[in-house]
Amino acid sequence: MCQVEEDYHEQLERAEVPGVSKKCVKCKEATAAVVIRAGDAYCRGCFKEYFIHKFRAMLGKNRIIFPGEKVLLAVSGGPSSCSMLSQVQEGLSQNAHKKLRFVPGIVYIDEGGAVGQSVEERRRVVAELQAVLKATGFPFHIVPLEQVLDLPSSVVVAAPSPSARPASAYKAAVDHFIQIDSSSSVTPQEKEETPLPDVQESHTHLLQQLIGSAKTLTAREDLLNTLRQHLLVHTARTEGYSKLMLGDNCTRLAVKLLTSISLGRGAQLAQDTGFSDSRYGDIILVRPMRDYSAKEIAFYNRMFSVPSVFIPSLDTKTTDKASIQRLTESFVTKLQADFPSTVSTIYRTSEKLQTACKSSTTADHFDRCLLCMCALDTAVENASAFKATLISEQLSQTKSPGATSADVPGQNPAPVESESTAPTGQCCPSGGGEDCGTAAGGKGCCSSAKGPETADLKSLLCYSCQLTIKDMSSLERLPQYILSEAQRRQRRSQMREEIGEFLLDDGDEGD
Ligand SMILES: [Zn+2]
Ligand SMILES: [Zn+2]
Repeated sequence: MCQVEEDYHEQLERAEVPGVSKKCVKCKEATAAVVIRAGDAYCRGCFKEYFIHKFRAMLGKNRIIFPGEKVLLAVSGGPSSCSMLSQVQEGLSQNAHKKLRFVPGIVYIDEGGAVGQSVEERRRVVAELQAVLKATGFPFHIVPLEQVLDLPSSVVVAAPSPSARPASAYKAAVDHFIQIDSSSSVTPQEKEETPLPDVQESHTHLLQQLIGSAKTLTAREDLLNTLRQHLLVHTARTEGYSKLMLGDNCTRLAVKLLTSISLGRGAQLAQDTGFSDSRYGDIILVRPMRDYSAKEIAFYNRMFSVPSVFIPSLDTKTTDKASIQRLTESFVTKLQADFPSTVSTIYRTSEKLQTACKSSTTADHFDRCLLCMCALDTAVENASAFKATLISEQLSQTKSPGATSADVPGQNPAPVESESTAPTGQCCPSGGGEDCGTAAGGKGCCSSAKGPETADLKSLLCYSCQLTIKDMSSLERLPQYILSEAQRRQRRSQMREEIGEFLLDDGDEGD
């Protein structure tokens, strides 16, 4: 929809340089200390008030986090998530009526192994961050990314979401909470020392091979994001949290929005950048920092000494053109420097986005992407850009007919070339728990139990994740939980195909 009436022109003017002795626009007395936008100069006190209010307003407006709920804060060590942490601390120390009412915990994912840090470097960073986390008094979990290799398959299966509570329930819960809580002041409990998990060198090596199997930095970053999110969600589940707070600020989200479009994630934009994200079902991701710009956060952290830790990432010390993510970031930040409303314009566009295809709540579990867990965007009509891309891809690959088996939907299991099939004796090499060979002769078994072929895996992925996988040299390096869930889904859809004619149409969408 085109928003003709909206007027961005005046905001697109260049930033004016503020006068030296400007007064605060809020209290009109104190001398301004920060200029957030052109014309909005705040004194120190008013800036703090404005900043704190914005955080509470964001949570209050959305009413997603109930009193007493356990909320896991994902802290990366960067300014934005550390600022989020300080806002939660601030909110918990307020008086009963203004106070935040959830129970926080912190998780930090140590990605040092994927980024190529030495063991000593990782220890130093973790120790530095541990000091920051310990000072909050909240329980915290430091999880090395290597643990992603041992995740259970349930991570990539959406859990049923708890039944939605009506809006009136929120009000009642808050009133109840204020009653029981008005007398007791919460002092953060002293948490016993959490020992740092030891990382085996072989695990780090496997993780590096996995990340390294992506041939481009774009795919590597995308893969790392996916793995990190799986580990965060898993930690939240096992530790009993129902919400996961992410520190994405609006500058970050503006970059993410444009990056997502470039990466072919148009259908997932609303979930990738919205305030709340329910793709995992039971664990809801929330982004309470999405109204703050990176600049505001930097000012606040500096003025009120919010500590943060510098942690190198995959694209640290790379050039602007090293990856799509990096390029988009540099594009947005450079534009923002001259046109200060760039980020807010992009960001406000993101708020209006909605996906036209079937919503994530109605989508069957098997209609979700195996990697990013969003509803699959690949079930589109024939006359679409996506199908056109597929056709030209198939045409250019005609020399290897064996690889296109997944593109032939009907029965007619063409005999696969002998070199790509495992000998019948080794049909189920892993012995994999479920009896896959019994039904419908050997054909069902062989094609699913034999390692995942690119074409097979593709049918389980959204368009964008297909592109990432395409950039990987070998799929065998993918963690076991992804591979075994892929096999399970393939078996399921095969079985469904085989018994399909005997099933009654359950009014789903039956094609
Ligand atoms: Zn003021
Ligand atoms: Zn995906």
